[in-house]
Amino acid sequence: MPLRCLCCDRKVGSDDGLCPVCWHGMAFIERPVCHRLGTPFAYDVGEETWSPRAITSPPVFDRLRSVAFYEGSAQRLVLAFKFGGRRELARPMGKWMSNAGRELLDPDSLIVPVPLHWARMISRRFNQAAALAQVVAKECGGTYEPDLLKRRKRTRRQVGLSAEERRKNVRSAFGVDKARLDRLDGRHVVLIDDVITTGSTITACTKALLAGGAASVDVLTFALADPSQSDAVSEISP
Ligand SMILES: [Zn+2]
Repeated sequence: MPLRCLCCDRKVGSDDGLCPVCWHGMAFIERPVCHRLGTPFAYDVGEETWSPRAITSPPVFDRLRSVAFYEGSAQRLVLAFKFGGRRELARPMGKWMSNAGRELLDPDSLIVPVPLHWARMISRRFNQAAALAQVVAKECGGTYEPDLLKRRKRTRRQVGLSAEERRKNVRSAFGVDKARLDRLDGRHVVLIDDVITTGSTITACTKALLAGGAASVDVLTFALADPSQSDAVSEISP
């Protein structure tokens, strides 16, 4: 079997994953980054520095890390993975995530995917966040916990909603499974999703986990929508 680029199907010489063109098209998020929001700084400002946005409106989670901005090759990979039936992308995408989020991950971490409502689960057949979380858990030795967080109600799609509508849409949409509260108590959680397009979903999940007894919540996503290009992430913060 000739090796193929994960993104465009061109032949490639090694199993690195991407051909040079698609590699160039990945807007990797390079360090140094904001300690809280994971957004890159133009120059090195030292360890654990917060961006102005993190200072003015700190997020409910501790830290966010993502592999790349949601554009170019990263966007193509996400769409192929989520809607194109390319489930095998979970492995390379999850490995990139483990690397991008290495300072968040620990063998003691609980690796929790953002849940999909069962009705959407049926129509799409799999939860892409859960597939990524499984790979991340395997890579870091953490515990994969797909059933801790429950989606209580089916939410409207967030696309096209204002920031306030988004918050309302997902408010109380998530809760911790009461039968599993003891597994969460005092633990560090790394919440996993494919893209952070609406910070409101991540915020609602984080609040549910903290209310359920988690000691701390970090967030790891494959892609981050560029805040300068999308109002969707201007409300990463609550
Ligand atoms: Zn390619």
